[in-house]
Amino acid sequence: MISLESIILLLVIFLCGDSFSLYNRIITCHIKSGSHLSMSVSSHTTRVKRNFNFSKLSGGYLFPEIGRRRDAFLSANPSIKDRIISLGIGDTTLPIPPYILSGLIKGATKLGTKEGYTGYGAEKGRYDLRALIANNIYPKDMIRPDEVFVSDGAKCDIMRIQQMFGPDVRSAVQDPSYPVYVDTSVMMGQTGTLNNHTGQYENILYMPCTPENNFFPDYAAMNQRADIIYICSPNNPTGAVATHSHLSSLIKACKEKGSILVYDAAYAPFIRSPGIPKSIFEIDGARDVAVEVNSWSKYAGFTGVRLGWTVIPSSLKFSDGSLVKDDFNRVMTTAFNGASNISQEGGMACLTKEGQKEISQLIDYYLYNANLLKHTMEELGYIVYGGTDAPYIFLKLPPGTSSWDAFTDILERVQVITIPGAGFGPGGEGYLRLSAFAPRCDVEMACNRMKEKFSVKK
Ligand code: PLP
Repeated sequence: MISLESIILLLVIFLCGDSFSLYNRIITCHIKSGSHLSMSVSSHTTRVKRNFNFSKLSGGYLFPEIGRRRDAFLSANPSIKDRIISLGIGDTTLPIPPYILSGLIKGATKLGTKEGYTGYGAEKGRYDLRALIANNIYPKDMIRPDEVFVSDGAKCDIMRIQQMFGPDVRSAVQDPSYPVYVDTSVMMGQTGTLNNHTGQYENILYMPCTPENNFFPDYAAMNQRADIIYICSPNNPTGAVATHSHLSSLIKACKEKGSILVYDAAYAPFIRSPGIPKSIFEIDGARDVAVEVNSWSKYAGFTGVRLGWTVIPSSLKFSDGSLVKDDFNRVMTTAFNGASNISQEGGMACLTKEGQKEISQLIDYYLYNANLLKHTMEELGYIVYGGTDAPYIFLKLPPGTSSWDAFTDILERVQVITIPGAGFGPGGEGYLRLSAFAPRCDVEMACNRMKEKFSVKK
């Protein structure tokens, strides 16, 4: 039964026209008072079959799982809650610097004016932003604005790229790798089930990345092929960077084997060593075989703002000759309504001289943290990878130590959160990832605590 109060409110809705928000208020009001809706747990199930691919996924996504274990530790040890330091999830911590922030503010302010207001924009993003990305980030005349798709971030683009490729492709990943490449392949139905023995999904090609190959797989030497190859440099989690010769060999192998390379350059500006490519499009032949995903998340502290982009060259084609770019455009125009106009104004600010200077300062700060962590762990006698051209340190654990055990041990003894290498694939077992995206004082405190409690040198 609708109450008299609800009838009066519905009349107001008609008079005011603001139907949606008022309707919500009515519903909220009823939920709060408990007068009509009940939140009790029901045994009802629908007749909708669960997507079988989701049942193949192992456990939860890695980072929520880390949070769950941290929370379990805290509820068992509430008195040391304030001692927790996170060197875990790769989330930025420094505030957005003033000039870039002024771009975001400008974007928001424009929306409050009659002249500046904009609604839906182009699904691919503003033309002027795409032109700046094409001209300022890539080698001269290499990328055209119509080959750039501005988005709400690299992770979302990886899923959309997978949706475009569909279930009938075989993907290859670096092992260990950023978990999104594997999990999205599973969700799309490209894989079989997880082999609990190997920790690998059937029908994914796992390309081992070890210190012996500088954490970069030799796809050319593998006698198997995959349709789609996911490569990330600077790498999450190993912190390794691919050299010019690694990438040239990869592009050549992709061409020979007819594969498409999805190159994740989300950490490109951390590269400071001369001669290391920051984009796959610095490599000859890449336009015929590669897509690049990228993001302002780690460049400019936009993890919460959400702005990224993907480049798909017009020369990249499927086996029937159709353009990959056209299908991606179809995905974007169907399933995405354009990045936020506020974020895009922030992106414009990132690409100015002042914005670039601020980005460089942010990255200096995190690289300094990475250097502190790297040297501390080396002093303690660990073998450490990464941390030079990347915000991640990949720590080799003493032989026979499981990475989840090391994670728990460090949490319990010094209250520092790390990420177990095994969370990035079976090849990550025996390693821990430390993230440099923490405030300096936290990094220093973590280093001091580690020095007090840990040492493999004896
Ligand atoms: N790619 C890699 C390799 C990452 O490590 C991350 C985030 O940690 C992303 C992409 C996600 O980027 P975005 O915030 O743009 O979705």
